[in-house]
Amino acid sequence: MSEKQIEVGQNLKNPIISVKHADLERIDPNEVYKSWCPVCNQGVLLVSRKLGSMHISRYEHCTMCGQQFFYTDDNIRGEPFEEQGKAIYTKN
Ligand SMILES: [Zn+2]
Repeated sequence: MSEKQIEVGQNLKNPIISVKHADLERIDPNEVYKSWCPVCNQGVLLVSRKLGSMHISRYEHCTMCGQQFFYTDDNIRGEPFEEQGKAIYTKN
């Protein structure tokens, strides 16, 4: 077994990584949002929606390693992201 053991949340405090959602590998051919985490390849990246506005969020984190990501796409399947500046996390 060469697969590295991933601890839940181990990358939670790492700097945010910018990724293009369109380039990520979906977990299933029928899945339009959920992708494999490009860092640990074991967790899943979702696409969140803001309560209230229901706009999709540019910020997401891996369900396994906790790595935070910033989606750089203009939109996902034609749907625009939330307004800039409404993000929960600050980019550093
Ligand atoms: Zn991960």
